[in-house]
Formats: sequence, structure tokens, C-alpha cells
Amino acid sequence: MDERFCAGCGVKIQTSDEHALGYAPKSALQHDPVVCQRCFRLTHYNEIQEVSLTGDDFLNMLSQIAEKDALVVYLVDLFDIAGSWVPGLQRFVGNNPILLVGNKKDLFPKSTNEHKLISWIQRAAREQGLKPVDIFLMSAGKNHGLDEVAAQIDYYRQGRDVYVVGATNVGKSTFINHLIQQSGSESVITTSRFPGTTLDFIEIPLDDGCNLYDTPGVVNAHQVAHFIETRDYKKVMPAKEIKPKVFQLNENQTLFLGGLARVDYIGPSKRSLIAYVASSLLIHRTKTDQADDLYARQLGHLLAPPSEGTILPKMERYDFRTEENDSDVVFSGLGWITIKGKGARVSAYAPKGIGVSLRPSII
Ligand code: GDP
Repeated sequence: MDERFCAGCGVKIQTSDEHALGYAPKSALQHDPVVCQRCFRLTHYNEIQEVSLTGDDFLNMLSQIAEKDALVVYLVDLFDIAGSWVPGLQRFVGNNPILLVGNKKDLFPKSTNEHKLISWIQRAAREQGLKPVDIFLMSAGKNHGLDEVAAQIDYYRQGRDVYVVGATNVGKSTFINHLIQQSGSESVITTSRFPGTTLDFIEIPLDDGCNLYDTPGVVNAHQVAHFIETRDYKKVMPAKEIKPKVFQLNENQTLFLGGLARVDYIGPSKRSLIAYVASSLLIHRTKTDQADDLYARQLGHLLAPPSEGTILPKMERYDFRTEENDSDVVFSGLGWITIKGKGARVSAYAPKGIGVSLRPSII
């Protein structure tokens, strides 16, 4: 195939990866000039389609934000906070203020204490070297809290441009599409290029001559989405409010989260474990001394998702002893298990590459 370039943003056209820069369906190649799917949607529907990329282009782009005088709006996924940080972000954005926005609040049980959640995010952000000027929670998908976030953006930007950044799947395009609809702007959205990169980003005019820039999503390799098939990913991503499931475990009992994660409760004595995962991720309890055998025989059957035949990296073990009163064992992108009470010993397992961590309970 001859090399073709998008008439909209100039990027090289490719027909193989729908989520990467420059994608166009094969049928679009019959047209001359040709535009990539992203520019097509942008011009015809005023709709943002997220593309993702890794590597130098992305770092280049981020580090150029440091040279601007702008507000950075940083989106994280509340269901997968550990998996949705962009490593080193504070360094890249220099002295520009960061407004941290936690999305997908609707997945949390209604009883969640928002203040506790925000102060936990604040601590976690500090550990990342971040000093956000403020933190807000919203649900872009359910249109909750968007007006407030938009008002806060306006307040904190103080007449400056805005850059929206975040990892893939945090809900950035859902959020930006809402902002566009609210602003009622028509056919004025454009793409432009960061100097020195092959990267284009989307420019949305604000009412005072400044712009809001949508930047491509950062791919975090340890997100569970990269390990399993799309149909299985739909099963592990909760679609609505998570219903906690409580289990009373005796010493040396194991919980499997489908075939994607496992927690062995070693002891001492009897204790409650509460699972916060999608309802379609089947939880199975067994005796720890039978767990290896069950996994070998039942992966993709009783222990599902993943679907039968999926080849996963080998399970890696993490040993934890809980210090605080209640703690969460977090499996990046899958959810978490709250261990009630302190002093518990557990071993957690997940396919190598999927982030596993312990945090003070956030609910
Ligand atoms: P992007 O990759 O950051 O642009 O993320 P998308 O906007 O494409 O969203 C990723 C996934 O999260 C999609 O399946 C969305 O439907 C879902 N999503 C986005 N916002 C929300 C939200 O507020 N709540 C829930 N439950 N899901 C959301």
C-alpha cells in the first residue's frame, strides 16, 4: 500500500489498529483526500475518539506542558487508581497547577464516605509526588458532578489554557465529549500538532480565546485490559454500582476472583473478607491446599473470566500482613478485597504484570 496521510491532522494512515493514531477503515481509502477515523468523527459528529500511545512522543508532549502557563486537569479512574496514575506527571507539567479528578464515582456503593475517599486520594497523590490544587469526584458516564468540575476548571484556570491528561480507559473522551456538548461549540474543534512529535491533539476553544487541549491517553502496561480479550474485559469492568460480597474465612482458605486473582487467608483465626468486584466476576472459595489443583483444572470454566483457552502470564505471589484496622488488597483494574481487622496474614496472586498492592481500606 502507498503511504497515505490524513488530510485533517497529517498523521500517517493505517488500517490495522483501531485504537492507534491514524486508523481508517479500509473503505475510507477509496476516498481522496483520505481522513483518519478520528478526524472524520471530529468533523462530522464533533466527537472525540481517544487514541493511545506510549514512548517518546508522549513524553515529549507531556514535557512541553511544563513550558506553558496552563491548568492541568488530571483524570484518574476511581475503580483503578493505582493503575491509572501517569508516572512522573508532576515533573512533566512543571509548576502548572493540577486539578485532580477521580472519575467513575457511580461504581462505589452509595454508603461510601466521600471525605475519606478524597483524603485517601490526596495521600496516594502525595506518594506519586503530586501536589494537586484540588480534588473532585465525578461520574462522566452518568453525568454526575460534571457541572461542578467544569465550574472548578473555569475557576482554577484563571484565564489560561487547559490540558486534560490521563491514562487510557479512565473516561477522558466521555468527559471531553460532555464538555463539548455543554459548550455548544459547532465545527470549531480542530487538531494541531505538538512541535517535534508525530502527535496531534485536539483543541477545543473556550469562551475567552483560550483553548482546552485533549491529549492522547497513556497506556499503562499493567492494566488488566491488556492481558485479556475484550469480551472478558467487559465482564471484569463493573457496569454499575458495586455490591460488596462478604465472606467469612477460616485459616487456610482461599478466594478466587474468576481465574484472574486469588487471595489466600493464612490467619490468624476466623475473619471477614469483603470483595468489591464486578458481579460477573465469579468468586469461588476453596481450601488453600486444593487451590493450585483447582486452578490447573478449572481455569476458564469454574474460574472465569478469562474465557477458556486464554493464556495468562504465570501467577505471581505477594505476601501481606495488615497493619491498619481494615485494609484493601487491590488488584489493578479488577477491584479489591477488604480484610477486616488488623494483623491478618494473606498471600495474593495475580498474573505477572497486573499490579497488586495493599492500602488502608477506602470504604
Ligand atoms: P478514555 O480511554 O479515557 O477516553 O475512556 P472512555 O471515555 O473511552 O471510557 C472508558 C470506559 O469507561 C468506557 O467503557 C466508558 O463507558 C466507561 N466510563 C467512562 N466514564 C464512566 C463513568 O463515569 N462511570 C462508569 N461506570 N463508567 C465510565
